[in-house]
Amino acid sequence: MSLYIAPNEDIVPTPGKSRIREVRAYVSRSTEYGASDVHDTPDTHWIMGLPDATGGWDQQTTHPPITNPMSRYPKYSGSRSSWGVARVPTVIVEIEDEEGRIGLGASTGGEAAAFIIEQHLSMFVEGQNVRDRTLLWEQMWRSSIHYSRKGLGVHAISAIDLALWDLAGKTLEEPVYNLMGGRTKQRVPVYATTSRPDLAQALGFHGAKVPLPYGPSAGSEGLRKNVDFIGHWRDAVGADFPLMLDCYMALDLHYTADLARALAPFQLKWIEEPLMPDEYAAHAKLAKKLEGLGTTAYFATGEHEYTRYGFQQLIEAGVGLLQPDVMWMGGPTEFVRVAAQAQAQGVAVVPHGCGVYGYYMAMACDHINLAEFMMMSEQADTIEPNFGSLFKNEPLPEAGYILLPETPGFGLELNRDALNLVRPYAR
Ligand SMILES: [Mg+2]
Repeated sequence: MSLYIAPNEDIVPTPGKSRIREVRAYVSRSTEYGASDVHDTPDTHWIMGLPDATGGWDQQTTHPPITNPMSRYPKYSGSRSSWGVARVPTVIVEIEDEEGRIGLGASTGGEAAAFIIEQHLSMFVEGQNVRDRTLLWEQMWRSSIHYSRKGLGVHAISAIDLALWDLAGKTLEEPVYNLMGGRTKQRVPVYATTSRPDLAQALGFHGAKVPLPYGPSAGSEGLRKNVDFIGHWRDAVGADFPLMLDCYMALDLHYTADLARALAPFQLKWIEEPLMPDEYAAHAKLAKKLEGLGTTAYFATGEHEYTRYGFQQLIEAGVGLLQPDVMWMGGPTEFVRVAAQAQAQGVAVVPHGCGVYGYYMAMACDHINLAEFMMMSEQADTIEPNFGSLFKNEPLPEAGYILLPETPGFGLELNRDALNLVRPYAR
């Protein structure tokens, strides 16, 4: 029985309040800007995971391999650039209102996302009021459901939603966290994702996460080398420094259970994304197995999951720590729902990557006590902006904490001079 007892009415933008004039989607033609493409780096960068010819590394010109979903194919088992991890670049969205205020958002998706944003989703945003974000989100979601649901289409929604929150902050002259209920902490503690936990510890981070070098296709020798690798880092940082492991969708159910059992003595804080994201049944089986092992490490995942519906499946599978990426999973409008949904079901949340945008979510959500900082310097030895030269003023950690500004919106200034922006689907 329908509860639309009265006919539904279209929202009329509040008279006298500035409406949204235009949505614009850009990509950069600059060769070295970084942006959200953390993988768009030379093979000498630690994040590409390229060892030397003998499989070893010196941490300067070569680095530990990083297992990934393509590692099983010999042709693509070298550097992650071999299978095009960075081929789809950043999309940048500007939303301008009638008074010339501009909200800024970004995601991964390049020209493909720019097409969806300009040629489709903009129709639900232009002419509307930035205050009506819940409605705009729902219309973008419902109208794109036949080709989207997860992945690129939701990245496009996320970029628009981030730009809407930024514009709302600039309109009301408040930082985004104040629009989301205010601050829940003075500063946001961050851990480092890095190839060098020892350096992260020295730089004051509240923990370090390393990528797993070898996957199931490297056999029992690879498993032993993985255990030695983590054992080496546990020795280097001491018993109490939080150490985490990222498996980047490279493993399977049984390998993960074997690995978790072997790594139990090293007291990892969490084991991240061991399985391909759609293997929900395997997630449920793995959660049961890990519980049986008595390991204290959280079963973490979610950076490649989307919307409240996807995250609910992970919660029901028994995942203990969700890692939503606000630039990918639906934007701030959806992020706060997932954070609440996790909290109500006893599941922890630590935002995935996405630098400053993740810090604003952590600031606004009492349930989040930690955020991720990606070490973007080639040898993971210095603190550099997560978005390369995309913004002029990205807040950076000091002694393991991020202090957010009180500037309206997300407080970010686009570094236009460095970006060589083009608008491929200008209308
Ligand atoms: Mg990860």
